[in-house]
Amino acid sequence: MKVGFIGLGVMGKSMAINILNSGHKLKVYDVIEESMIELKEKGAEIGDSTADTCEGCDVIMTSLPNSKIVEEVILGKNGVLEGAEKGSIIVDLSSITPKVIQNIYEKCADKGIEVIDAPVSGGAKGAEEGTLTIMVGGKAEVLEKVKPILECIGKKINYVGQIGAGDTVKLINNLLLGVNMVACAEALALGTKAGIKPDVLYEIISQSSGSSYALKAKYENFISQGNFEPGFMIDLQYKDLELAISTAKDLNAPMFMGNIAQQIFETARAEGLGKKDISAVINLYEKWLNISVRK
Ligand code: NAD
Repeated sequence: MKVGFIGLGVMGKSMAINILNSGHKLKVYDVIEESMIELKEKGAEIGDSTADTCEGCDVIMTSLPNSKIVEEVILGKNGVLEGAEKGSIIVDLSSITPKVIQNIYEKCADKGIEVIDAPVSGGAKGAEEGTLTIMVGGKAEVLEKVKPILECIGKKINYVGQIGAGDTVKLINNLLLGVNMVACAEALALGTKAGIKPDVLYEIISQSSGSSYALKAKYENFISQGNFEPGFMIDLQYKDLELAISTAKDLNAPMFMGNIAQQIFETARAEGLGKKDISAVINLYEKWLNISVRK
């Protein structure tokens, strides 16, 4: 299959490399030119624009920061819809609001182009290793057609239901990730302030009932090393909490934990940490408690 791939950031670049390494023809595009160099060296074709990248492709994949950018890239001037041919399939891998992908789905249907939402989980490591969990919304028969491509980037491909359903599951997942990340930072900081070594806290809690993905993924490689290069950026986590909060408002559902977690990430952004990994929230607690949660 010929695949067009737009958005070669932390996640997109690794996913694109895995698709290329699986033997598919690949054409890529990103607004940041340097992010395309590695793909070019590995044999991918480089597009001049989004529309140009989509020409002649069976499948067009997008991995972009937020709803507004996905909407612009697909529906906007010189975008995917202009370049894609009838019968092609758009697979949006970004985490965005279900309403936006539903609107894109309807606009693309008018031109005979299918759309599925296929947000991913598993972080930069999962993207590199091709072991992502993928949650898919849209027509089941369209998923079947693109499965060989999704199998290049993920190990668990879950069909959830109608268009937007994948994004809904993803925002619920990331609500939990955000809340758990803040809870981990708060707990590690308290334990350290109380005089327990951070490594001791980690070793015991990671094997006890207080453990979580956030603790396991973010203590050893990030917090304990003082390494806060993303990974998963605070700005993106903030956006995902906003998706959960606005969905909760639409459904009149209480959202205590999500709102509190979002305020902590908002504080981190105000402190200039927006482009750092989510584990960098520990820096706030370290400052407030005058401690260091390092190895
Ligand atoms: P990123 O910011 O590293 O990458 C986004 C890429 O999109 C960048 O290279 C950027 O230059 C490019 N881009 C922006 N506007 C563009 C445009 N108009 N045309 C073409 N390219 C454009 O973000 P990321 O961490 O790779 O995340 C991508 C998506 O995946 C987000 O929706 C995020 O929430 C989601 N996600 C991220 C992770 C993670 O751990 N980083 C995990 C799961 C899901």
